[in-house]
Amino acid sequence: MAFPSSTRYLIIGAGVHGLSTAYHLALQLKARNQGRGEDILVLDKTALGAGASGIACGVVRNNYFQPAMRELMAHNVDVWESDPKAFSYHPVGYMQISPESMHSDIATIAEQQKEIGYESVFVEGKQESTDYMKTIVHDWQAQGITSVLHEKRGGYANNTGAVYGLGGKAEAEGVRIMTGVTVQGFESGNGSSAITAVHTNRGTIQCDYVIVAAGPWVKSVWEMLELPRAVTIKGADGALHENVPTWVFWSLQEGTLGVDPNLQQTNDGGMPPVIHVDTDVPLYSCVDGSLVTDQMWGVYYKPDFHFGGVQGGAAPFKVEADPDDVAVDPYGPESPDFVVGEEFAHMWVSALAHCQKRFEGQMPKYKNEPSGGIGAFSPDSFPVFDVFRENCYVIADSNHGFKMIGVGKLVAEEICGARSKLMEPFRFSRYVEGKLHPVSNSPFPWS
Ligand SMILES: Cc1cc2nc3c(=O)[nH]c(=O)nc-3n(C[C@H](O)[C@H](O)[C@H](O)COP(=O)(O)OP(=O)(O)OC[C@H]3O[C@@H](n4cnc5c(N)ncnc54)[C@H](O)[C@@H]3O)c2cc1C
Repeated sequence: MAFPSSTRYLIIGAGVHGLSTAYHLALQLKARNQGRGEDILVLDKTALGAGASGIACGVVRNNYFQPAMRELMAHNVDVWESDPKAFSYHPVGYMQISPESMHSDIATIAEQQKEIGYESVFVEGKQESTDYMKTIVHDWQAQGITSVLHEKRGGYANNTGAVYGLGGKAEAEGVRIMTGVTVQGFESGNGSSAITAVHTNRGTIQCDYVIVAAGPWVKSVWEMLELPRAVTIKGADGALHENVPTWVFWSLQEGTLGVDPNLQQTNDGGMPPVIHVDTDVPLYSCVDGSLVTDQMWGVYYKPDFHFGGVQGGAAPFKVEADPDDVAVDPYGPESPDFVVGEEFAHMWVSALAHCQKRFEGQMPKYKNEPSGGIGAFSPDSFPVFDVFRENCYVIADSNHGFKMIGVGKLVAEEICGARSKLMEPFRFSRYVEGKLHPVSNSPFPWS
C-alpha cells in the first residue's frame, strides 16, 4: 500500500479501542451517508494487538461499584454478544465473591443490576455462599466469604482473537490499517488548535479528525498534543487538590497455571464462570504453609485454552517511579521491568488452592514465562473519553478497556454528531468540577 498523504479520519492505535472505533465509524458514516470505511486510516507503530489488548486476561463483567461504569459495561456486553464468534467471546458469566467488608457495596451493585435489567443472582450469608459455590464447583473451600454475585452475562474473550476479529470487520468495511507507522507529532494552523496533519516516522498525513487510542502510551501522545500534564481535582469536601499527575502507571499482574483447562470444569462438565474472589482472611502458602499475607487480597481466574491453562491475576501495584521515567517500551512480556515474578506466582497459586481443593499441589505447573504488563491510569483510575483541540477524540480507558468493546461504537456516534449519555460521566472536566465516581471497598483500583 502506498503511504497515504491524507485521510479524513486518522486513528492512532490498533488495539480494542482503535479497531472498534474504526469498524463502528465505518458503519456510522455509511448509514448516515456521510462517508465510508475508505475514509478511515488506522496507524499502529507495531502491529494489531501489540499493546494491552493483546496481553489482557480478557475478562468481561458488569460488576462495578460505580453506576456509570455499570451502565457503560451493559452496553459493552451487548456488543460482545452481537458477534461472539468473530470476537472470540465466551459468555460463561462472572462471579464476584466477597467478604463482609464488601457486602453492602455488592448488594448495591446487585440491586442496580436489577434496575438496569442485567441478569444476576445475589447470594448472601456465609453458609449460603459456600453452598451456592459448591453447586458449581464441588471442591469450593474459600473461607470468610459472605456474598456471591453471579452475573449470568459476561465472561471472557481471547485477547488476540478479539483484536483480529475487530480488525477483520473494519477491513471488510474498507478501513485501511497500517502497521509499523509511529505517530511523532501533530500540526495545526490558522490560529486554531484543531489538528490539520499528523507527523509519522514515514511522512506527514493531512487529516480532518484524529482519534487517539494509544492504551499505555497515552501519556506520550497526550504530551504531543500539549494537553495538561497535571490536573486540579475538586474533592468531595470541596477542597481543590492541585497538581495531580494526569497519567501514572500501574503494573498489572497476571499468569497461567499450566494445567489442562478441563481441570476447572463445573460439576456438570461445563466451563465455569470467571471467578473473582476478594477476601480478608489470611492467605497461607500452598507450598510450605507460611503466611503469604494477612491483608485484604483478591484474585481472578478462569480456564482458558488460548493461554493453555487456568489463567488469571491479582491486584496490581502502583509503579512508584516518576511517570516521566517509566519506559513503556518494550511492552508487556518483553519488558525488563514489568513482568510478574515468583512472588506473584506463589501468592496467586496459593490463592487458587485456598479457593478450590483441585489446585492444591499444582504449584510446579505454574508457567514460568514472562507475563503481565503496565497500564496508564488517570487521576481517579476511571476512563477519560473526551474531545480535545476541537477535532481530536482521546479514548483513555484507565485499564478497564478490553471489555469495553462498545466504546468505539459510542465514539463513532459522537463523532457523527450524537452525544452519548453513557460517555458524559467520563469527560476530562469532571476532575476540576468534582464530578467524581464513588469509591468502593475493593482492593482493586478498577472496581
Ligand atoms: C496484563 C493486563 C491484563 C488486562 N486484563 C484486562 C481484562 O481482563 N479485562 C479488561 O477489560 N481489561 C483488561 N486490561 C486492560 C485492557 O487491556 C486495556 O484497557 C485495553 O486493552 C486498552 O486498549 P487500547 O486499544 O486503548 O490500547 P492498546 O491495546 O494498548 O493499543 C494501543 C496501540 O497503540 C499503538 N501505539 C501507541 N503509541 C503509538 C504511536 N505513537 N503511534 C502509532 N501507534 C501507537 C500501540 O502499538 C498499541 O498497539 C488488562 C491490561 C493488562 C496490561
